[in-house]
Amino acid sequence: TQFSDFGLAQPVLRALEEAGYHTPTPIQTQALRPAMEGRDLCGIAQTGTGKTAAFALPILHRLSLSDRRAPRRGCRVLVLSPTRELANQIADSFSDYGRHLPFTSTVVFGGVTIGRQERALAPGVDILVATPGRLIDLVDRRALTLEGVEILVLDEADQMLDLGFIHALKRIVRMLPQKRQSLFFSATMPKNIAGLAEQYLSDPVQVAV
Ligand code: AMP
Repeated sequence: TQFSDFGLAQPVLRALEEAGYHTPTPIQTQALRPAMEGRDLCGIAQTGTGKTAAFALPILHRLSLSDRRAPRRGCRVLVLSPTRELANQIADSFSDYGRHLPFTSTVVFGGVTIGRQERALAPGVDILVATPGRLIDLVDRRALTLEGVEILVLDEADQMLDLGFIHALKRIVRMLPQKRQSLFFSATMPKNIAGLAEQYLSDPVQVAV
């Protein structure tokens, strides 16, 4: 199978060709079709397997099919990451694969002044990559609303729990619309993570590599 077999939007396919990526990795082969169709996904995958593209490509594809706009101070896609390093990598991937698309993206994390992040969010952004603590701070300051989220990605869920983000995570998910697509990734799937997945996902497709 090649990326060209999946019916991805042309601008996404072009970015992949320019990156020199022709053959999807196993997690991408499993995840692309269901995610492009709007299904929920529960993926067990480590870093290095290509899992970022496994969610970024179908998300860009779906955004490109609709002409909705991000609401003021809101976002359409919310990606939660446990660390700022991973958040930056994810945002870079969306920029790379989305280079021929008009979508805006922002990354927010703690440990830096919040003012610039507030200003970046003010007009609304299509894709927001965030660490959970700073996201809550921005919501509490009314710099961000989650009412318009169409797609949620939870990346490295096991790490997120290890770092003590469970309460922030639960608060965030309570603020999201019920009707949304959710993509859940974790390197491991112990009972507590599987429980979260079951709570947050609706009839998910299971993928594992
Ligand atoms: P990730 O597991 O998302 O951190 O990705 C690991 C690395 O693999 C990243 O540097 C990606 O740019 C690269 N990558 C992702 N998908 C592919 C692919 N289908 N072919 C070649 N490289 C890829």
